[in-house]
Amino acid sequence: MGATGCLMRQCKMCVTVFKWLPVILITAILSWSYYAYVIQLCIFRIENVAKQILYLFLFHISFVMFFWSYWQTIFTKPGEIPRNFYLNYETIERLEKETSDQSQQAILEQAARSLPILCRNYNGTVRYCEKCRLIKPDRAHHCSVCSQCVLKMDHHCPWVNNCVAFGNYKFFVLFLGYAIVYCCFVAATTCQYFILYWTSKHESVRDSAGDMTTEGFEKLHILFLFFLSIMFAISLVSLFCYHCYLVTLNRTTLESFRPPVFRMGPDKRGFYLGRYSNFREVFGDNKRLWFLPIFSSLGNGVEFPTRRETMRAAAGGDGGENGNCNLPPPSQSLQGQPAHDYNSMGETNMAISAKQGPQPLSMGDGLSFPQKTEDGDTAGLLSTRRKSTTDDDSEGDDQELDFREVQVISHNGSVPRDHVAIGFTGKM
Ligand SMILES: [Zn+2]
Ligand SMILES: [Zn+2]
Repeated sequence: MGATGCLMRQCKMCVTVFKWLPVILITAILSWSYYAYVIQLCIFRIENVAKQILYLFLFHISFVMFFWSYWQTIFTKPGEIPRNFYLNYETIERLEKETSDQSQQAILEQAARSLPILCRNYNGTVRYCEKCRLIKPDRAHHCSVCSQCVLKMDHHCPWVNNCVAFGNYKFFVLFLGYAIVYCCFVAATTCQYFILYWTSKHESVRDSAGDMTTEGFEKLHILFLFFLSIMFAISLVSLFCYHCYLVTLNRTTLESFRPPVFRMGPDKRGFYLGRYSNFREVFGDNKRLWFLPIFSSLGNGVEFPTRRETMRAAAGGDGGENGNCNLPPPSQSLQGQPAHDYNSMGETNMAISAKQGPQPLSMGDGLSFPQKTEDGDTAGLLSTRRKSTTDDDSEGDDQELDFREVQVISHNGSVPRDHVAIGFTGKM
């Protein structure tokens, strides 16, 4: 038993070291680049003092910003789930005693009733993590590497040995941006020396005894600096652009592959609030903090404003109550709307005519109502999911998921809030 425990500890230690290897590698490259640029290039090679000072000044700004944002991405907690999302002991016991899915779902539904949750599984059930024994907040996911659920999870990044999520997403985007700035600056300022060394054939890097000369070392450092900075800049540009694109859509990497599912179905642009508001969700309201790796994202990581809420606010706020909500179409940009009006419960109880403008659609005779069966719903949602994940993210992809909420009007003209049927009219 003792030997097994010892072996387990050693295995865990090996895994931990292995997980930190990419971070150690990046830190080593960064440290070497600092030495090569400051000592070998600026101090040994550049003779003009003014040029030396200018290069050193700009280099240190980009180096500090790069290292600061990298550090923050690694060591900031990505987003712990609040305690009230964890099931209590009695509920876990009841859940484990139940054998049927329906009974378990009923227990989870009851537990989720007091929580601010909009998102669901594809079959309409409550999102529950069996490993953490908690009801997942909207946009939270379980990370198998970190063995925990994380708020607004984007992805797990081995290069920072951390989840990129609500707590450090801004730092991650800044880290990519400053890494590119750093690489481009180093590449641009070493370029002329690289060309000089490359074209000069008379200078040998070795002396008569075959040992590397000081000048030879200097050359090698500067050649490597140039090559590595170009290589890293090229590989980071596409990733940075992709994350800038996701920020403007208020979408995580996971959501770009699997859209969030609301009560009315999956909606790839469910959290889209307009490009500027989307940007503010990550970078905050304080412009002075936008480009500093200091936390300034809006919200608490648990509740997120949705496109429908914002549209409802734009339409006057009480449209759902009188059953005649005059909403703009979902593709309309909502710039300037408050992006952090966190009011998430009761989302689907509101009667909304989302796609058809002011005129509500009335279906049925008011006596019999369409029922949503689990199998049919799941099949429909899955086909929608296949459609939405294969489509590109063009500007007009509002149209991809065209869910029409169908109002069922009772005979006296009022809208019974519990009788909002859901119809799928998308281009499936
Ligand atoms: Zn979990
Ligand atoms: Zn993780």
